[in-house]
Amino acid sequence: MERVVITGGTCLVRGTFIKADILIEDGIIKDITKMISKVLKEDAEVLNAERCLVVPAFFNAHTHVAMTLLRCAVEDVPLMDWLREVWRAESRMNEKDVYTGAMLGIAEMIKSGIACFSDQYLHMDGVAKAVEESGIRAVLGYGMIDMDDEEKRKKELKETVRFVEKWKNKQRITLTVDPHSPYTCSEELLVESIKLSQKYNLPLHIHVAETKDEVRMVKERTGKTPVKYLNDLGFFSQKVIAAHCVWVDDEELTILAKNGVSVAHCPVSNMKLGSGIARIAEMVDAGVNVCLGTDGAASNNSLSIIGEMKFAALLQKLRNVKIVRAEEVFKMATKNGYMAYGLRGGELEEGYLADITILRKGLSYTPLYNPFYSIVYSSYGFEVRDLIVDGKVLMKNCDLMTVDEERLMDEAERRGFDLIL
Ligand SMILES: [Zn+2]
Repeated sequence: MERVVITGGTCLVRGTFIKADILIEDGIIKDITKMISKVLKEDAEVLNAERCLVVPAFFNAHTHVAMTLLRCAVEDVPLMDWLREVWRAESRMNEKDVYTGAMLGIAEMIKSGIACFSDQYLHMDGVAKAVEESGIRAVLGYGMIDMDDEEKRKKELKETVRFVEKWKNKQRITLTVDPHSPYTCSEELLVESIKLSQKYNLPLHIHVAETKDEVRMVKERTGKTPVKYLNDLGFFSQKVIAAHCVWVDDEELTILAKNGVSVAHCPVSNMKLGSGIARIAEMVDAGVNVCLGTDGAASNNSLSIIGEMKFAALLQKLRNVKIVRAEEVFKMATKNGYMAYGLRGGELEEGYLADITILRKGLSYTPLYNPFYSIVYSSYGFEVRDLIVDGKVLMKNCDLMTVDEERLMDEAERRGFDLIL
């Protein structure tokens, strides 16, 4: 039995911060108590969390992790020029590039306290291998695009089936069916995706209403707004995670709430690509499960959910509609992500997945009036000291336990320049 004990920390338990010890056995939180017995500690890896906050780990609910290899390659140009360069580089990527980009992104995510991420991309075997080796948890789906081409559609569906068959039944990998979006996928591909999702009992993960242009295109083609269009196809009969949802009207908002659709809000990417500000305050009010994502590193350029929390909260203040409280934003960054993908995590609770972040109470958290305020508004990211995923310590005292950082950086540097030049 693998046992980890966290002692002396200030732990977030059922919405309140309390002093407690945490016992983890075989990847699951076994006990949260005043003090764990000496006998149990003798046979365990013990993390001393005095002067630390112990919280559920962060969840990156929407990304394309291998794009770390392309970040900062093109900046400060109009969107269409930027996209052209990114697409050019992506078309040259192979599975090894994707593996290296994924490892780079995963290493960064571990360092910023993220235990699980949801990824949609190509050459997904590369991402899955990096997940297996690094020890992180992930939700993975092959991003399908057919652009009304029947041949391409068949290939894309076949690749999804192949990927699902290859990686099902892995402890830390959850799978999704990922048609890219209503404007890059034909109606047939969307319908086939619903069928696959039913057949394998997997959630659907899709980009929806990211830009005004996209809404216009979908309306021209179908006569409907994107959410209405998907609803009429029966898309929301399945568990769905819709990324972005920046441009949704009141009718669409009601559809999302009524059907239990989760929205992956990506505030930094939406700002960088000039997409707009999602109506998160209204979504929370309507009961939509909102979680946070970074989107790909090329349009962010970080993979930090700590960063997204602050921007999510501030952007709603900028809209001046209704304040979304820090505690709510923290939930979006943790529990809501796990909920969206049907995982029992995101809370420090007995029987839950042992995905835990330990934050040092340093300069930026002083004075500590309210830990939620400090974590959401005052974090730089360097507060993250340790990360436990699935009951294993992946970062200890800021050192990565499963990744050779220097070697990885050399490899990523080499592959990145090969792709871009
Ligand atoms: Zn995306």
